[in-house]
Amino acid sequence: MKVLVINAGSSSLKYQLINTDNNDVIAKGLCERIGIDGSKLTHKPTGKQNAEIVSPMASHADAIKLVIAALLDKEHGVIGSMDEIGAVGHRVVHGGEAFSGSVIIDDEVKKALEECSELAPLHNPANLMGISACEEVMPGVPQVGVFDTAFHQTMKPEAYLYGIPYELYEKHKIRKYGFHGTSHKYVSNRAAKLLGKPIEELKIITCHLGNGSSITAVDGGKSVDTSMGFTPLAGVIMGTRSGVIDPAIIPFVMEKEGLSIKEIDELLNKKSGVLGISGLSSDFRDLETEANNGNERAKLALDMFINSVKRYIGYYACAMGGVDAIVFTAGIGENNGPMRAQIVECAEFMGVKIDPEKNKIRGEEIDISAPDAKVKTLVIPTNEELMIALDTKALVEGK
Ligand code: AMP
Repeated sequence: MKVLVINAGSSSLKYQLINTDNNDVIAKGLCERIGIDGSKLTHKPTGKQNAEIVSPMASHADAIKLVIAALLDKEHGVIGSMDEIGAVGHRVVHGGEAFSGSVIIDDEVKKALEECSELAPLHNPANLMGISACEEVMPGVPQVGVFDTAFHQTMKPEAYLYGIPYELYEKHKIRKYGFHGTSHKYVSNRAAKLLGKPIEELKIITCHLGNGSSITAVDGGKSVDTSMGFTPLAGVIMGTRSGVIDPAIIPFVMEKEGLSIKEIDELLNKKSGVLGISGLSSDFRDLETEANNGNERAKLALDMFINSVKRYIGYYACAMGGVDAIVFTAGIGENNGPMRAQIVECAEFMGVKIDPEKNKIRGEEIDISAPDAKVKTLVIPTNEELMIALDTKALVEGK
């Protein structure tokens, strides 16, 4: 089955057409500046010349129409008819407590998603626009929602509740949801394959380290705890996000600096993290260059990041009563060998040990453990689009 995977943002829409029979990407692309002057579509068909289509896109439906036209185009197209698209899989950021797995989208699901919008005001409305656009342009094609939060719905209350009055959970659903679930699920399943063991028998710590980072304890294939929380602001220090801080800092800074709720929210989400510490950049490559040139604050930012990841590795190894494998994924996790080495160094006492030569290999699914390591360290490039396509196919085919 060919599945069109859609990741809709407020003014952008990413897509991939995936053949789920062999997991090949047939084409992928990006619509930018939807609803803004200067909209354009960059279409990348596998084995053919890329195309850049500059055309107004007033809405997400216009964007989807252009995507379909690009997929069908004589020159850079990849399918002969729209009927070849068996289903559409949508990335949806927040499924709240309503969704613990992927679902076929119907009116009831859309209503539940609207209700979750309050929990992800930047993302869920855009995801819903993508869904409505596909329903309009591709009537009759099954649509599936795959949620960033769903994988973490297996957490127990002692892991997902905060130490605040219980009524706030009952009234406003304030609890830990966790994010990057599709990525954590994908890499933990791949890890089990790579180790040649049933996932039910494994305790895995998955480290999704990118511009946004989260770490998950996966016990027997289920998420039992994760570092992000009610929102993706919690957990480790990130590119521009603070990660966990003492909550008392918030009213204190608001008072001292005369900040509004909107301003403190922006400070914590956009001006903090390694950008805020270094005063230079949120990109780890820039920070490494600067740290190597002797910039102390860039080095401090990197050291703080490493420290915050280590905390979760220790915490989750204990929470699960042991660990069989630590998995690294996403931009930093997949590409930054020296950082991986510095992170796992602390866990040598638990039997974690990496092979420095294997740790130099990039962009591949690989076991980088030393031969005598008791706990495996794996690098597994994430593939959220493939996970969405496979979940979509399984639901549509009723498996
Ligand atoms: P992501 O959000 O997964 O795209 O990851 C973005 C982060 O990964 C940025 O901070 C980059 O500096 C880092 N990153 C991406 N590619 C590389 C690379 N080839 N080498 C080192 N770091 C990288």
